[in-house]
Amino acid sequence: MRIANVNNRAVVLVSDDRGVDVEAASGGRFGPDLAGVYERWDEFRTWAASLGQTAADVRFDRSWLGSPSPAPRQVFAIGLNYSDHAKESGFEQPESLPPVFTKFQTCITGPDTTVTLPTGGNTDWEVELVAVIGKEAKNVTAAEAWGHVAGLAIGQDISERVSQLRGPAPQFGLGKSFPGFGPVGPWLVTVDEFENPDDLELGCSLDGEEVQKGRTSELIFSVPALIEGLSATATLLPGDIIFTGTPAGVGVGRNPKRFIQPGETLVSRIEGIGEMTQTFVAATN
Ligand code: ZN
Repeated sequence: MRIANVNNRAVVLVSDDRGVDVEAASGGRFGPDLAGVYERWDEFRTWAASLGQTAADVRFDRSWLGSPSPAPRQVFAIGLNYSDHAKESGFEQPESLPPVFTKFQTCITGPDTTVTLPTGGNTDWEVELVAVIGKEAKNVTAAEAWGHVAGLAIGQDISERVSQLRGPAPQFGLGKSFPGFGPVGPWLVTVDEFENPDDLELGCSLDGEEVQKGRTSELIFSVPALIEGLSATATLLPGDIIFTGTPAGVGVGRNPKRFIQPGETLVSRIEGIGEMTQTFVAATN
């Protein structure tokens, strides 16, 4: 099943531009917002499975799509989780849980957006698999972890490297939380839709040139291992999102370094999910 956020209403997709409005079809039992859907995920799945041939009643344009979890209470982001990326970043490969930081919630957007480049910054791309939590998780083992995931989406962990790396110690949160720096989408694909949710090709292209390409099977800590590691400390809540880390090919790891310029377009894609597009503009002040 695929679920989209269409103008802040949960919609079960029938095709890429048509679906069933959850609140209308359930007579108000679920929806319209997605946060409430994740809160009662198992109940919702049972109901959604009974939808059968319900006629699609919503036709939408992609510009109406928001993040499949528009206001997550917690956003976890993982650094250095692909060995080639750890190498290009000049760090050792992590042995215990990799670096964990947050992208503040206000940077989360839908899939197709225009993003303003911060003045004086070096803005970089990081395509990532995003997992959305569907069931509270505390002290969950890796073997149980997929059962706590509602589904998967594409994420871009857009990162401004000057503010990320200056000061006595890198501070990832702020440099990765400028407005629009956390597009997620284009929709949520439930875990059962994937033949192997632990092995998906992902990549992104800048103005048509492929800059990142990898497979999630190359993650040092898989989605289940991350959920085990994170939930050993924090309680993961329905609707929380996890940016799982980026493969090699970011601009700061290149020689010469390359950063996003005004007018450039970034297309990010993950096998079995789809793609999303960011266009970048210069700040006007
Ligand atoms: Zn990242």
